[in-house]
Amino acid sequence: MSHYGPSRELVVDVCRTLLDRGYLKATEGNVSVRVPGEDAMAITPSSYDYGKMEPGDICVQELDGRQVLGSKKASIEASMHAAVYELRDDVSVIIHTHQPYASALALMERPIPALFDEQVRYLGRSVELIPYAPSGTGFLKKNVTKKVGSGANAFILENHGVLVLGGSAEQAVHNMALLEKVALDYLLALLTDGRAEKVPLPIREVAFQKLRKDEKKLARQVEEAKAAREASELRAREESRTAAGEPGAAPSAGAAPPVAAASAGPSGAQLAGYAIGRYPDVPAVYERLDALVGQPLRPLRRDVMDGVLAWYDRSCRRSKELTAAAAELIPGGVQHNLAFNYPFPLAIVRAEGAHLWDVDGNEYIDFLQAGGPTVLGSNYEPVRRQVAEVVEQSGPITGLFHEYELKLAELVNRLMPSVEMFRMLGSGTESVMAALRAARTFTGKKWVIKVGGAYHGWSDQMVYGLHVPGTWRFEAKGIPFGATLLTREVFPNDLDALRRKLRQNHRMGGTAAVIVEPVGPESGTRPVPFGFNAAVRELCDEFGALLIFDEVVTGFRLGMGGAQGYYGVRPDLTIFGKCITGGYPMAGGVGGRRDVLASFAGGIGGKSGERAYVGGTLSANPLSCAAGYFAITEMERTGAPVLAGMAGDRLTAGLNGIIDKYGLPFVAYNQGSIVHLETSGVMLLDLKHPVRFARQMKPRKHMIEEMGAAYAANGIVTLAGSRMYTSMADTDEVIDDALERFERVLSSVEGV
Ligand code: PLP
Repeated sequence: MSHYGPSRELVVDVCRTLLDRGYLKATEGNVSVRVPGEDAMAITPSSYDYGKMEPGDICVQELDGRQVLGSKKASIEASMHAAVYELRDDVSVIIHTHQPYASALALMERPIPALFDEQVRYLGRSVELIPYAPSGTGFLKKNVTKKVGSGANAFILENHGVLVLGGSAEQAVHNMALLEKVALDYLLALLTDGRAEKVPLPIREVAFQKLRKDEKKLARQVEEAKAAREASELRAREESRTAAGEPGAAPSAGAAPPVAAASAGPSGAQLAGYAIGRYPDVPAVYERLDALVGQPLRPLRRDVMDGVLAWYDRSCRRSKELTAAAAELIPGGVQHNLAFNYPFPLAIVRAEGAHLWDVDGNEYIDFLQAGGPTVLGSNYEPVRRQVAEVVEQSGPITGLFHEYELKLAELVNRLMPSVEMFRMLGSGTESVMAALRAARTFTGKKWVIKVGGAYHGWSDQMVYGLHVPGTWRFEAKGIPFGATLLTREVFPNDLDALRRKLRQNHRMGGTAAVIVEPVGPESGTRPVPFGFNAAVRELCDEFGALLIFDEVVTGFRLGMGGAQGYYGVRPDLTIFGKCITGGYPMAGGVGGRRDVLASFAGGIGGKSGERAYVGGTLSANPLSCAAGYFAITEMERTGAPVLAGMAGDRLTAGLNGIIDKYGLPFVAYNQGSIVHLETSGVMLLDLKHPVRFARQMKPRKHMIEEMGAAYAANGIVTLAGSRMYTSMADTDEVIDDALERFERVLSSVEGV
């Protein structure tokens, strides 16, 4: 798909929503979306039925009128749309419909005066009439240009329906609905007594004064928060200077961790008890990553890659047979997103500690570690034995309460004091769904903001800006537009954008929650500066939004206090997933503030009618709860997160040594036991650079597939060829063995 795909899809989504709500009919009107970062727009074709419209039907035009994509003729009003985009930077979506109520007002030559606050805020102080000119003519474009400069978002085109603008699809659809309401109200008022525009002056003054007061209050809050943040950053910088060189205080489990807000991280003063020895130099990492993405690819030599593929064919025959048979019955042949599929998936029969064995008898060092939860190492015997004893007694599930539910909740509460209450669920995905539901129930607000590229499971509302920042609904196949209507994304580490979105949402029903992966999207593939989470906390407080930490990976991997303990930031809600059972199944849960978590008990212990509904027949079963309890207890006893972190440090240092030795442009860095080895930089592409994204996505993705296959052929399993999770089982010998294998691969790169 070309990089215009998301914009074309968005046009179709907006049209379908408008069609469903009755604002568009048959072939009337037209809709366009600005292509991010370009002087171009995606626009509906001329006179084409919305009911059968597909993304491939949508035209893409540059604002100067040149059609760059689409076999159909663009809407006759394309030049009017282009003129609006040129004039108004704040507009990203334009809707033109033949809305009947407003059209009646045009006939009566009545602009709509300010009827109520909401109208003034979103549509402008009045809905003006734009004088008639024939469709598609320069005259109409000129008339439109004269009016839209006012900054208003809704206009009545004389004899020609309405024009509605929005900064986003959601906002444009909202504005359309609002215009419909306003037009109908005014028309009714006119038809009943004809005096609607004569709202008594004192009442109008009161309304406007209130509006102005709200805006002033918001501006004051913003200024105060800015000053407080600057003061606290200054304090933190001074503290970290004083502490430099001295060992950090070791927070005992459950104790409040030291405040750490400096953007460079606790250099010198490490937090004892946590997996991160030294915080990565984030600006330097980005500099190297940018340089990597700016260079041509350095894949493996062709002869070496041919050898890798030959090894698979020769040594993994049974894996190939099994997964080929599976492909007949199982869509795609494998059921795990993390499974390595190039050139074909491996079938694993044994896992123990730091190693895996496949069905053909090949042994691998296991840096996938099931995607993160097995900090003790795979299939850890003491946990397995104790879980078996519990299951022998109670079976895996009874449907009734079991003591290990309480034991696990007590343990999590002790290790992460922000988890005042804990509700166990079946997966990270479910837990995110539940948390967002609780956040909306508790705050009464609507919006949810996530960071572009971050993964928070696959629920309808979270398949948005997935993997690649700025891609909105790129992956949202089969998900109705309405499901993501209240989800917004901000680019990673962009606190100003977050503030802007919070402010915008504040005027449109408020933000219920901001959800982050605390080390950065995709387990820190785009790492955050150390002070990022604290700054997000402050913004959430300023705008009354809940802060949700998705600790599905970082949970106990960063330390027994999780990322929240390490960063010293207390979230309102925490998401648990695979980490909560140490890798055993049915793993998920939401923890956090007592008053927020009480939403789940409405109707039982809380106020009736205010319950945020959660369920799950198998959630909180004895097997999962006992596994979680034993695994986390064992991690605390052994200091597993710190040991795994030390292994991560050794692996990263070794990889950087190899990179330097062969003069490679690759980038290795780690956040404790989460190790990143970027060789193609595919994960760093985004829609801020759409042309680069379109050209380079495929080859860069293929390169990490090849790298991953080459690592496996040399006895190392990674996550998608670019990420590694280390565990307590990774002794120095295991890491040194891994480094020898990595060197074999990395020294075979083209140009070495
Ligand atoms: N959040 C994060 C940060 C994850 O890494 C994942 C899974 O990888 C999820 C949420 C979803 O969890 P689950 O796969 O258990 O639904």
